[in-house]
Amino acid sequence: MAFNSIDKVKDRYDVIVVGSGLGGLTCANRLATAGHTVLLLEHHTQLGGLATWFKRKGHIFDVSLHGFPHGMVKTCRKYWNRAIRDSIVQLKSIVFDNPQFSLTTTFSREDFTRILQEKFGIARSVVEDFFVTVGKMNFYDDQTMTTRELFDKFFPGRTDVHRLLMEPITYANGSTLDEPAITYGIVFSNFMNKGVFTFQGGTDRLIGMMADELEKNGVTICTRARVDRIVVENGKVRGVAVGDRVISAPSVVSNSGITNTVTNLAGREAFPVDFLGQFDRVKVNNSSCQVYFGVRPGESFRDVGDLLFTSTSKEFSSDEMLDMETKSRTFSVYYPRTRPDHPDYTVVASMNGNYDDWAGLGKEAYKKAKQAMIERCYVDLERYIPGIREKVDWVEAATPKTFNRYTLHTRGTSFGTKFEGLEISRSIFKAVPGLFHVGSVGIIMSGWLGAINYGVIVANDVDGFLRS
Ligand SMILES: Cc1cc2nc3c(=O)[nH]c(=O)nc-3n(C[C@H](O)[C@H](O)[C@H](O)COP(=O)(O)OP(=O)(O)OC[C@H]3O[C@@H](n4cnc5c(N)ncnc54)[C@H](O)[C@@H]3O)c2cc1C
Repeated sequence: MAFNSIDKVKDRYDVIVVGSGLGGLTCANRLATAGHTVLLLEHHTQLGGLATWFKRKGHIFDVSLHGFPHGMVKTCRKYWNRAIRDSIVQLKSIVFDNPQFSLTTTFSREDFTRILQEKFGIARSVVEDFFVTVGKMNFYDDQTMTTRELFDKFFPGRTDVHRLLMEPITYANGSTLDEPAITYGIVFSNFMNKGVFTFQGGTDRLIGMMADELEKNGVTICTRARVDRIVVENGKVRGVAVGDRVISAPSVVSNSGITNTVTNLAGREAFPVDFLGQFDRVKVNNSSCQVYFGVRPGESFRDVGDLLFTSTSKEFSSDEMLDMETKSRTFSVYYPRTRPDHPDYTVVASMNGNYDDWAGLGKEAYKKAKQAMIERCYVDLERYIPGIREKVDWVEAATPKTFNRYTLHTRGTSFGTKFEGLEISRSIFKAVPGLFHVGSVGIIMSGWLGAINYGVIVANDVDGFLRS
């Protein structure tokens, strides 16, 4: 899809959105439907941010389409359109396989309740009490309890249960047992409700449909437009600088990471000292590594499940999951049904990753480490799909450096920041009127659903600001 080039856009808009992740896209769409003139600027050649895909040798690889909660159905209907909503389909077969247990689930509350009773021997009343407690958690609750304390209260000493409940969430947003239980509770309740869902037709189709909707609603879209600076004068937002152009707007929504936004785009000098004091406590979340396998046309394999949480590590540990040589990974398996118009078998192995581990390597060591990661993934994958090596005609790896290059996110973070980033993101417009932030922060506002919902919240803030 061809978009505008930066030299063709107008000199002034009501709002400029910097970045086209799901948060930025949704915010731009909402503001355009509210009647504002909106310019969307994206540094990459395609829209979507981390909701992205790439093509190799006839294969299409999805980067972050592994699964999202049922809440996406309502959100997409309300804030995008019916056609997008109608393409959301359930992943029926989620597999866990590790030294403590092996099981297949639909990942729904009902199925988890059954499994916890039948397989783990937990009393139904305890399981129900846990679900009710977690379901009632909200943002304003006491934030001192950690997820570890929550688990110890309901399932003391049961590291197998902790693993079942925590491992998917650690993959989904990088959280650990030592973070506020609220961050776990909200994400867990979202997922552990009606199961895990995907988008039929793949990420490319979803983002294409979103781009159509944005253009229909009048948003001016520019790709290959890297914003160098958010212009702040006399304490207020004036617009953005892109190359040698300055485009003015009374409000700018940054979908760039919150750390980038403050440090590199607006610049620390734009903010009051007390805001910076709080900002300096923000920790960015971890990054990811992935290995992509494309199966030669004409080859196939049997159905082994849609999403496989696999590990040969004795027990769950978020540190182990971050290790370069982790023994824990998820395999997302894409069958021809994923893209009926482009039938293909692909597998994506995802691991959590630390930017510093990879960024510190020299060129040769980096290449070697990538190759070693591919090999570890092959060995694991062969346990589920024997003979896969002979069927693959494309294999490639991404590291935290890759994520950094494509999104510009600090240390290639996959899920924004830890909990404290949320307050900074929510209060940035109080520090610099006209400047808003949308995108993965505080664990809760990350993931496809979190980012889209946050886009709606921020659009409401901007609309209020522009009308005031
Ligand atoms: C490997 C991986 C797997 C994942 N799997 C899942 C999953 O299965 N389910 C799920 O729900 N979530 C998943 N996620 C998380 C999810 O993809 C993200 O939380 C979500 O897409 C982030 O949206 P966002 O709005 O924060 O923006 P981002 O996607 O982070 O996009 C930000 C955009 O801003 C642009 N930008 C930055 N700076 C500038 C600038 N100066 N000028 C112009 N443009 C700029 C970037 O290029 C980018 O396009 C995964 C993430 C990763 C990395």
